[in-house]
Amino acid sequence: MTNPERPHPQSLPEVSAREAPGAREVPSAVDPLAPPAPQRAATTEDLERALRFVHLVEMQTKARLAELSATVSALSEVLIGQGHVPLEAYEKRKHLTVLRENERSGTEAGVMLSDIPDKYALAALPEIDCEARIPLCKARCCALRFALSVQDLDERVVRWDYGRPYQIAQRPDGYCVHIDERSGGCTIYAQRPGVCRSYDCRRDRRIWTDFERRIPAP
Ligand code: SF4
Ligand code: SF4
Repeated sequence: MTNPERPHPQSLPEVSAREAPGAREVPSAVDPLAPPAPQRAATTEDLERALRFVHLVEMQTKARLAELSATVSALSEVLIGQGHVPLEAYEKRKHLTVLRENERSGTEAGVMLSDIPDKYALAALPEIDCEARIPLCKARCCALRFALSVQDLDERVVRWDYGRPYQIAQRPDGYCVHIDERSGGCTIYAQRPGVCRSYDCRRDRRIWTDFERRIPAP
């Protein structure tokens, strides 16, 4: 494996025999003030890989914070149990802190990922006559928000919202970008996310008032 920090040998300027034995690092033919050679422009794939790295680090940081929180809780319980901290004062302070933290975290953006490992292995999927129902339901299921899985990200077919990693990308009207405007069908049906495969609208009151009687929600 090559070291990414080092330039490829063929990209180095040639060194003359006079200068070769360690005389100088940069031969005089090279202008140190010259602008750097143009590099390959970053592709969408580069950008997505970089974002995934950043999001992975964020998720790891959150996991470590959760561990830290558990440690503090355990420590508090030991101190209370041994009578070093009055329980009532502790509970009161904790309650106030939880309220404050909930309020703060509710406004924070977070990374969401579906934990479905293999969407192609999902079994016992709901059998719904979608084609016949779309004129009634208007394919509302495709306007719900949900997160993609690592498998979806690796396939790079389903698009995600860069502003809300890794939730499905939606059009301004709230519908998924992969919906077919005319038919209401899915344009990436074979690779649709696991959430779409396993979703069951029959008892979802956002979709149906009465599924059996074919009455959509208002
Ligand atoms: S809301 Fe239900 S019936 Fe309508 S398209 Fe979605 S899954 Fe099919
Ligand atoms: S991927 Fe397909 S099935 Fe899933 S929400 Fe988008 S259009 Fe609907």
